Amino acid sequence: MTTSPRPTVVVTGASSGIGREIARRLAQQGHDVVLVARREERLRELADELEGAHDIRASVVVADLGEPDGPARVVEEVDALGITVGGLVNAAGVGTAGPFAREDAALLARELAVDVVAPTILTNLLLPRLLEAPGGLLLNVSSTAGHQPVPNVATYAASKAYLSSLTASIWQETRGSGLTVVGLCPGPVATEFFEAAGSERFKVGTVSGIGPVVDAAYAAIDRRRGPLVTVGLANRVQSLGSRLAPLRLTLAVAHRQTRRPGD
Ligand code: NAP
Repeated sequence: MTTSPRPTVVVTGASSGIGREIARRLAQQGHDVVLVARREERLRELADELEGAHDIRASVVVADLGEPDGPARVVEEVDALGITVGGLVNAAGVGTAGPFAREDAALLARELAVDVVAPTILTNLLLPRLLEAPGGLLLNVSSTAGHQPVPNVATYAASKAYLSSLTASIWQETRGSGLTVVGLCPGPVATEFFEAAGSERFKVGTVSGIGPVVDAAYAAIDRRRGPLVTVGLANRVQSLGSRLAPLRLTLAVAHRQTRRPGD
C-alpha cells in the first residue's frame, strides 16, 4: 500500500485467517495496528512477530464481539491505551450452516452479533475519527455469499448482504472526504472459517488461498476502489451471473452447490 501518512488501524479477527494476514500486511507497510479477537495468546504472538519484524507498534485488545458491549469495550480500551485511531478493518466473522430449520437459535444470534452488529457499531463509534485522520481507512470484510441468497448458508449470506449494503452506503456518504472505504468480497478461502462454521453441514465449492484476498484488499485500498471489490475473475463472473439470472434459477443453482446428500 502506498497510502501516506499511515494511520493506526484497528483490525478485528486478527487472531486467524484473513484478519491476521491483513494485519501482517498493514504492519509491513508501516501502520501501527491494534489486534482484536478473543484468543489472547495468538494476538500476543502476532504482536511480538510484527513488532520484531517492522518498526511499528502492535497493541492487543482481547474482546468478544459476540457480546452486546463488545464493540464499545474495544473503543474504551483503545482510548485507555491512548491510541489515536485512523483505520478500521472489520474482519472478525463466524458462519453457521445447514438447513435453516435445523439451525441453533443461540448460534444464529451470536453469528448476527459478530457479523452484523459488531461491524456496524464499531464503524459507527470510530467513523468520526477515521474521517478526521489523514489517510483514513475503513475495510469491511464481506463475502461473495452476500451477493445473493444462499440456501444452507442462509443467515451468513444475509449477514454479508447487510454488510455489503452498509459499506456501500457509507462509501457514498463519505465520498470526497479523503476516507478510503472498501467492502471486500472474497469467495471461499482456506482459513479456519469452515471448521468453525460446521463444514460437515454444507458443501463448500473451490477454496482459494489467502494471498490473493489480501493482494486484492491492498490493490483496492491503493487505488481507492470501492464501494465493493469481489476477489477473483471466477467470483466476479459468478456474481454477475447471479445478478442477471432470475432469482428462482439462482436459488436452485446455489442450493445444488451447497446441499449435502439427504438434505
Ligand atoms: P477465521 O480464520 O475463522 O477467522 C475468524 C476471526 O474472527 C478470528 O480471528 C476470530 O478470533 C474472530 N472472531 C470470531 N468470533 C469472534 C468473537 N465472538 N469476538 C471476536 N472475534 C471473533 O475466518 P476467516 O476466513 O479469516 O474470516 C475472516 C472474515 O472473512 C470473516 O468476516 C468471514 O466472514 C470473511 N470471509 C471468509 C471467507 C472464507 O471462505 N474463509 C470468505 C469470504 C469472507 P477468535 O476466535 O480468536 O475470537
